Amino acid sequence: MKPKGFIRRTRQREAILEVLRSTKSHPTADWVYQEVRKEMPHVSLGTIYRNLRTLSENGEILELSYGSNHSRFDANSECHYHFICESCGSIEDLEMDCLPELEKKVEKIGDYEVFTHRLEFHGICPDCSREESQSHLN
Ligand code: ZN
Ligand code: MN
Repeated sequence: MKPKGFIRRTRQREAILEVLRSTKSHPTADWVYQEVRKEMPHVSLGTIYRNLRTLSENGEILELSYGSNHSRFDANSECHYHFICESCGSIEDLEMDCLPELEKKVEKIGDYEVFTHRLEFHGICPDCSREESQSHLN
């Protein structure tokens, strides 16, 4: 019997994982496509989408879904939180512990069965706020 969570390791899938692990930028499928294409010129965008979906359904990667085709992908599938900069659009990992008790709280509100949760903070990233204070000096 196949172990739980087993998915076939295709060459494309390995290449996608490698590309995702090489960055902390939480890239889009299109970016992943452009990178994988450098190694595998004949890969299609559809193949990239399909594999990203399989990998995230299998819990190997994280999909940060923002509607239709705006998902961003993360090689780190462990529970962690993000900061999204409203100025440059960057998505950064936050160095803080995940709060599993939030899920218990939600389940206590009503008849909810919580599988997972996502938490992101919106504001201005350190780089942008430095830039902003620089421009005030000039
Ligand atoms: Zn920023
Ligand atoms: Mn992340």
